[in-house]
Formats: sequence, C-alpha cells, structure tokens
Amino acid sequence: MPQQINIAIDGHASCGKSTLAKAIAKQLGYTYIDSGAMYRAVTLYFLRHPELDFTCPPDVDEALKNIAISFTYNPETGHAETLLNGENVEALIRDKAVSSLVSQISTIAEVRRFLVKQQQELGKNKGVVMDGRDIGTVVFPDAELKIFLTANLDVRAQRRYNELMDKGMQITLEEVKQNLQSRDITDSTREITPLLQAPDAVLIDNSYLTREKQLELVMELVAQKMK
Ligand code: C5P
Repeated sequence: MPQQINIAIDGHASCGKSTLAKAIAKQLGYTYIDSGAMYRAVTLYFLRHPELDFTCPPDVDEALKNIAISFTYNPETGHAETLLNGENVEALIRDKAVSSLVSQISTIAEVRRFLVKQQQELGKNKGVVMDGRDIGTVVFPDAELKIFLTANLDVRAQRRYNELMDKGMQITLEEVKQNLQSRDITDSTREITPLLQAPDAVLIDNSYLTREKQLELVMELVAQKMK
C-alpha cells in the first residue's frame, strides 16, 4: 500500500471546501475532518451557557474544561457527524445563531489552542483530509498537499443559500451573503492565525469549475505527491 499523506484544504467561507474534501477522502479511503465543525461546536456550547462570558479568560477555561468534541460515522450519509459531549449536534451547529457568532469565538487564542491540539492528534497517523482556515499554515504545516480554495462572493452566497433552502432554513440570499462577507473579514483580519494561503499551497478558484473538475485537478496533484 502506498504511504498515506495529509491533505490540508483552506479557503473562504462556503467555497465548497467540505464538498471537495469529502470527495477526496472518499476516493482515497481517507478520513475527512471538518475543523470548522469543531469551532461551531464550541460556539454552540457558549450559546447554551449564557452565564459564561467568552470575553473573560477564566470563563473560557471553564467552558473548555467541559467540552468534549468527537465524531460519529453516519452510514446513511456516509459522512462523519459532530458530537458535543456525546450529543449529535451536526444540524444545530449549522444554525444561523452559530454562524453569526462562530468567527468571533474563533478569535479566542485559548479556543484555537484547544482545537488545534486535537486536530493535530487526529492527523498524526496521516491519511486525513482536513478543511478549515489554518490547516496548511498551523495545524499541518508539513501536510504533503495543501490546497487554497476560493470562489467569488456571489457564487458562494448562491451555493450556500441553495444548500440552506434544501435544509428548509428561513434565510434570505442577502443575509447569507452578509454572513459570508463578515466571516471572511473577521477570519482574514484576526490577530491570531488569520486565514492565509500557505506559500506552498496550490490556489484553486472554483467559481466556474464543476465538482468533478475540481476533484480531477486535486487527484492529479495527489498522484504527483505520491510518486
Ligand atoms: O468551515 P466553516 O465555515 O464551517 O467554519 C466556521 C468558522 O469557524 C469560520 O468562519 C472560522 O471563523 C472558524 N474556523 C477557524 N479555523 C478553522 C476552521 C474554521 O477559525 N480551521
């Protein structure tokens, strides 16, 4: 069996990172890990505990002491789902309230330290495709393949809106666009490990690429790395 590699996929909000990452993982028989889901789970915990002030370091410590994030495989969808203290929160973490707060929670250094440590542990045996904002720069700086994915804002907003409509969520296209835009700004300008393209990452703008074409492009890169 060829040696396994780690694949890091970073990029802007809703540019299809998880769709691409899942397809790569499926094709290679690798594990897909959605690092954004982990930040969302921490955010959900804070929303459920309004007595904890996330701007207050002792409260953050208290919250993190009580948070355990894990994943469970759903055989119906073929994908891993996120558990917060054993509860399946996969649908809840996609909620509007979580989406509005998650980028702010993600600026907290202690939260990032807590999650990055777990993400690194998940990838230590290789064979992982992980998507997020700092995977190629911080979590797996030695990943054998790094992709930086982007697409124009209107295309991303429309895709995300269609997805949320399919899930029956009540939201307008304008609200989706504003959420993406504000998350991009917070993610790219935060002091600690902002969203950045790693110097050795391959840039893919998928505004006008089909899913199949993107997968084909990445599989060619994987083949080169495996040689
Ligand atoms: O990937 P997703 O859009 O679900 O991530 C939600 C939010 O989590 C991002 O907008 C970002 O603020 C944060 N995040 C992060 N670092 C990661 C993954 C996600 O800061 N590695």
